[in-house]
Amino acid sequence: MIKFLDLYKINQRFNDEFNATFNESLEQSHFILGNNVTDFEKEFTNYCGTKYCIGTGNGLDALTLILKGYIHLGKLKKGDKVIVPANTFIATILSVLHADLEPVFVEPNSRTYNLSAEDVELNIEGVKAIIMVHLYGQLADVEKLKFLAEKHKLLLIEDAAQAHGAECGLGKAGALSDAAAFSFYPSKNLGALGDGGCVTTNDSGLSSAIILLRNYGSTEKYKNEIIGYNSRLDDMQAAFLKIKLRHLDVDNERRRAIANTYLENVKNKKITLPYYDGSKNHVFYAFVVEVDNREDFIQFLDHNNIQWLIHYPVAPHKQKAFSVFSHLKLPLTEKIQKRVISLPISPVMTNNEIRTVVNVLNAY
Ligand SMILES: *Cc1c(COP(=O)(O)O)cnc(C)c1O
Repeated sequence: MIKFLDLYKINQRFNDEFNATFNESLEQSHFILGNNVTDFEKEFTNYCGTKYCIGTGNGLDALTLILKGYIHLGKLKKGDKVIVPANTFIATILSVLHADLEPVFVEPNSRTYNLSAEDVELNIEGVKAIIMVHLYGQLADVEKLKFLAEKHKLLLIEDAAQAHGAECGLGKAGALSDAAAFSFYPSKNLGALGDGGCVTTNDSGLSSAIILLRNYGSTEKYKNEIIGYNSRLDDMQAAFLKIKLRHLDVDNERRRAIANTYLENVKNKKITLPYYDGSKNHVFYAFVVEVDNREDFIQFLDHNNIQWLIHYPVAPHKQKAFSVFSHLKLPLTEKIQKRVISLPISPVMTNNEIRTVVNVLNAY
């Protein structure tokens, strides 16, 4: 069986370091907003190339707190329109709703699955912010979206939950917009041993607002300045993340190497391979192919003991929870949602496993 993602194998590599940091943390017993959070925040700002990093409870909260932070600062107000990709994980859109803002769904580019500046511009009327998602680990059309946001004086926000370490000429994911949200959900390229997330930004006002919002509106115990939440990055998770951050570049390089092996060696007209320009702008959180008959393909993979996953089987606007958006006409998103399937890719796959996947795909 070739696992889709072998989390045990991924984390087992750090077992000794995890144990040492666990014992240290237990000794210090500073479990909430301790030194590990502060240290990790500093190390992640250095990594991304931003001024600030604020640890949060998870990726959804990171996104939501960015939007609530801008509302607190008066840069957004309730009911403002925010562009979101129609083809994304539901969290991107939930954050907009949780902040009492209005999502404007924009169809993706069919080659990159990301927002294109042209499609965004067609929907820009009355919009106050854009959330670009670096879907599957590939940076969105950052340069053009930045230009567009500046031209129309809009806030540009990154959902970088799948793109830790992806980079282009303008910098790394997290440093390519006004504010970015990361998730450290265990399966992400930089994953904790539980939930976690953070915001990165160069905006000191936003950083201060989120520092208050994540911790009961307070920086001093029992002194509450604004109406806040409880969404802090867990100190133990920060300790584990510090260890894993040092290996992120090597892991991403391995993911790219596996992707290149697939791209060079899978030659099957029935399988449409993903677009990749060969640069570091992709960290292959997922290796997503398209097929005409997915049910048939799934049977074939199952028969050959290759695990798979679908990112995502139901488009957000077709979810029961989003029935108010079910009238939207988003044919491209719906088409993608029916055709995509993600194949195993992870830094711990062996060369043998990679070869097997290639051979099985060529035999389909
Ligand atoms: C994982 C993910 C999130 C949410 O992260 P959580 O930590 O699970 O809350 C948001 N957006 C995208 C694109 C994601 O993949």
